[in-house]
Amino acid sequence: MKFIDLRSDTVTMPTDKMREEMFKAVVGDDVYGDDPTIVELEEYAAKLVGKEAALFVPSGTFGNQLALLTHCKRGDEVILGDDCHIVAHEVGGASVIAGVQLRTLQSNKGILNPEEIKSKIREEDIHYPETGLICIENAHSNGRVIPLENMKKIYKIGQKYNIPVHLDGARIFNAATHLGVDVKEVTKNCDSVMFCLSKGLCAPVGSILAGTKEFIDKARKGRKLMGGGLRQAGFLGAAGLISLKEMTKRLEEDHENALLLGEKLSKIPGIEVNFEDIHINMVFFNIKNTGYNIENLVDILYSKGIKINPPENGVMRFVTHYWITKEKISYVVNTLEELLSK
Ligand SMILES: *Cc1c(COP(=O)(O)O)cnc(C)c1O
Repeated sequence: MKFIDLRSDTVTMPTDKMREEMFKAVVGDDVYGDDPTIVELEEYAAKLVGKEAALFVPSGTFGNQLALLTHCKRGDEVILGDDCHIVAHEVGGASVIAGVQLRTLQSNKGILNPEEIKSKIREEDIHYPETGLICIENAHSNGRVIPLENMKKIYKIGQKYNIPVHLDGARIFNAATHLGVDVKEVTKNCDSVMFCLSKGLCAPVGSILAGTKEFIDKARKGRKLMGGGLRQAGFLGAAGLISLKEMTKRLEEDHENALLLGEKLSKIPGIEVNFEDIHINMVFFNIKNTGYNIENLVDILYSKGIKINPPENGVMRFVTHYWITKEKISYVVNTLEELLSK
């Protein structure tokens, strides 16, 4: 069965064009710096986000952890939001790989208070760890886009106290699309940025870490240490180039579809959509008072060709992407309406 997969935008299969480009890709051993497709991808990616250099890494988690490893030394403290991906979804990697301590601040729907960040920067004291890094996440995995003004304030503080700022921009192009700005307007407010090629941009594997040339040279060695030195990676790079050149330009469609999905879902009795949270391609909603056992929903929808995740703390999340068309949205909504009315 061909499934309609709403679990995430990581489920996006490569397009036909990507498969053709991967087939034809000119490759080499990238650990020797010999893979022309990876060299092209890294140069293109760096320019796209306005940084001096970039590095292809196997995943977003890898890129974030490599950023921590490269910016910090063991025992440093990293200031970041309590609900960010590095804290919540990276298996505690920061303590294992970079050996850093995470100082979490309560985020207001993904937004950090710049004044609070400032107040947490360590002074010199024989007892204190050193503040090594500040991290921001945009778009946030809660579906919201962080205002540029907030990023700007945080970056200014980082610069003032000489503390680098890393941006977890797994969905940076969704953020730029929502804000209606060139992606450089977002990335100019950080020293390093990680973004995913494999989320919504349809590449099968891979993320990019970008920053100064000095930072990326150091990160390249750290990537080797982490076991991420890849050989004929150009097969993946060929798909990544299409992600950056073409797929970044069509994300508005996914955002419109998310809004459409939200509007249609909200008309079903018992469904409450959090419209405030629809900034990008994610729709969050609750199902209430229908008498329907939500726990069964995953299995029943699966039997009807629809893959979804179970609710998290009672909240459902549907994600739109390249393979979710308007017809599929209608099918999903009709199927759900029928189930809930029973
Ligand atoms: C998905 C995601 C990551 C990690 O990417 P993977 O490729 O899944 O490791 C990091 N940060 C954010 C905000 C994400 O949404």
